[in-house]
Amino acid sequence: MLIDNLLASIVNITTFYTISFPERYPLWADYASNMAYLFFYNFMGVLFLLYVDSKTKIGSIKKTMFLIGSTIFIYDTVMILLSPFTKLIFYFDETGYHHGPMMLSLYVTAFICVAIAITIFFAKRKMFNHYQVLSIVFFAFGVFLAIMFQIGHRRHVISNFVITMILFFIHTAFENQAYYLYADTLCYNRRAFIKTVDQFRFRKEDYLMAIIRIDDFENIKHSLGRMGVDDLSERIAERICREFGKSAYYVDLNCFAVIKVTANTHQLRKQIKECFESTFNLEVGDDEIVLDLEPVITFINVHGENVEGYEMTTIIQNAATHYSESDISIQESDELIKPIRREKEVLRLIDNAIKNDGFMVFYQPILDIHTRTFTCSEALIRLKDDRLGFVGPEEFIPIAEKNGRIHDIGDYVFRTVCRFIKEQDVLSKGVKYIEINLSPEQCNRVELANQLVSVATEFGVDFRQINLEITETAEMKSYGMDSVNELIHNLHSKGVTFSLDDFGSGFAAIDYLIKLPVDIVKIDKGILWQAMNDEASMKILKNTIRMIKEVGKKIVVEGIETQEMAKILIENGCDYLQGYLFSKPLPPEQYIEFISGKWEEVMISY
Ligand code: C2E
Ligand code: CA
Ligand code: CA
Repeated sequence: MLIDNLLASIVNITTFYTISFPERYPLWADYASNMAYLFFYNFMGVLFLLYVDSKTKIGSIKKTMFLIGSTIFIYDTVMILLSPFTKLIFYFDETGYHHGPMMLSLYVTAFICVAIAITIFFAKRKMFNHYQVLSIVFFAFGVFLAIMFQIGHRRHVISNFVITMILFFIHTAFENQAYYLYADTLCYNRRAFIKTVDQFRFRKEDYLMAIIRIDDFENIKHSLGRMGVDDLSERIAERICREFGKSAYYVDLNCFAVIKVTANTHQLRKQIKECFESTFNLEVGDDEIVLDLEPVITFINVHGENVEGYEMTTIIQNAATHYSESDISIQESDELIKPIRREKEVLRLIDNAIKNDGFMVFYQPILDIHTRTFTCSEALIRLKDDRLGFVGPEEFIPIAEKNGRIHDIGDYVFRTVCRFIKEQDVLSKGVKYIEINLSPEQCNRVELANQLVSVATEFGVDFRQINLEITETAEMKSYGMDSVNELIHNLHSKGVTFSLDDFGSGFAAIDYLIKLPVDIVKIDKGILWQAMNDEASMKILKNTIRMIKEVGKKIVVEGIETQEMAKILIENGCDYLQGYLFSKPLPPEQYIEFISGKWEEVMISY
């Protein structure tokens, strides 16, 4: 667009000469320069349309936009080229230059282009930042005002100048280099890295990548503090960038990369080492710290593998930790790509299942020691794919959590369980409540409580028939426990009970026990299994049970696989037992069969 506008400006000047001094130039020169001017000027609208289309990336309209753009381009071009004969757009006679009757149509086509472009841009404006939106609006208004002014003041030719200014504005808004640079350095950032890898992939080109990390970074981070680390990173980026220029990238904290199409690893390694030869002198507070850093270099050869930029950021993270100081090749090195591909595939599966009702909820009976009956159960989600087979929740739940799909899944499970409780009237079959797992991400949503209440109400389920399991995790700690506390208080008042799941598997167990007003604590199966192996762990388990009882909570232990386990736990006063010894999680029909009486056979004798 800039080039086109520049050409338009240049021929605009020549048209003034030919129009002002018609006697000096032959008629064909008059026509040629005016035709060229109109051509470049009108081409601008079409270019703008295609540009905005390429930025908004709405796949479904791409063809239509191209069709509209080319139709207008052909119309404009033909009208302009034929003008010397048809005199429709403009013509010369004895009195000089004149607009033809169809001149207005060129304005109309340009207007159509700009109007469509603005419309599709606004349909996708959420993709763009404030500055970019502003610059597009500015373009439309600026061009409009410039043309209006031009029509009124023919002698003051400013429209090309105005458009140039605005184009420059758009250029800085959209193609801003700073967007791809790390802080105040000239080093490319993570965004640029992703884009570069994507470009290689698009061109099917092989390349060599060196990943650079600092040895013992955790310790350095600790002693420098946050600001010091930022400072250090900038210095490293600067040095690598000075050596490798546009091939250097600051990808992540303690992760730099150099990408080359052809390079000798030996030579590259030497060059990288040279960047770290002299010490780094930093000022942290009042102290000056001198750091002698040792780079850890890993080479990745990418040939023929179709790796996306975003995937690559994960790959280099894993590669750097597992293969430091080695040369690996992406084509051979399956274990680098496999988990990423698998995650993508599972995510696709999750999305499919959300759309096509592809999940199932199973129920695992839980034994009540006091009544010796299965008065409750845990709802556990299942996902089956025709091609990938059975995918366990241990695998897909974390992926769903990471990618924001857990809310849909949680909603599905809750609805399914409520429907099940109501339709099967499980209370009449002796099942007092069903436990439902909540992810920490779900607990953090303020609208969760209302959502759960409205679903339970919709199905007419008594709130006392629902128990929610929350898990202690590092994330919950960082969200703050306030939102969880609020959720518990909110739903407690309705009659919903709560369990603290996987107790003992995390690091904050006691903290949660103190701060969260749960009704039940579920001891993690890992703790039980460990206790069966060594005496010290058994003592810890027994004392944990005692402690929980003393603070007045009920105890469930999961993972009961043998009679021996059951015996020990009953002797120590647990309230509920859950495990394969009694039953695996069952599909709804089988679970109903189970609680309707068949379970006596599997009951233990003690
Ligand atoms: P969890 O909440 O700790 O669930 C108990 C897991 O232990 C279940 O695995 C269950 O099948 C298994 N289990 C129970 N007794 C035994 C036993 O005696 N031996 C052995 N080896 N395993 C036993 P599952 O169904 O594979 O679920 C795994 C995890 O996935 C769950 O761990 C839970 O964290 C998550 N999950 C399952 N369903 C849901 C759900 O609907 N929502 C959420 N957010 N997470 C879920
Ligand atoms: Ca659970
Ligand atoms: Ca558990």
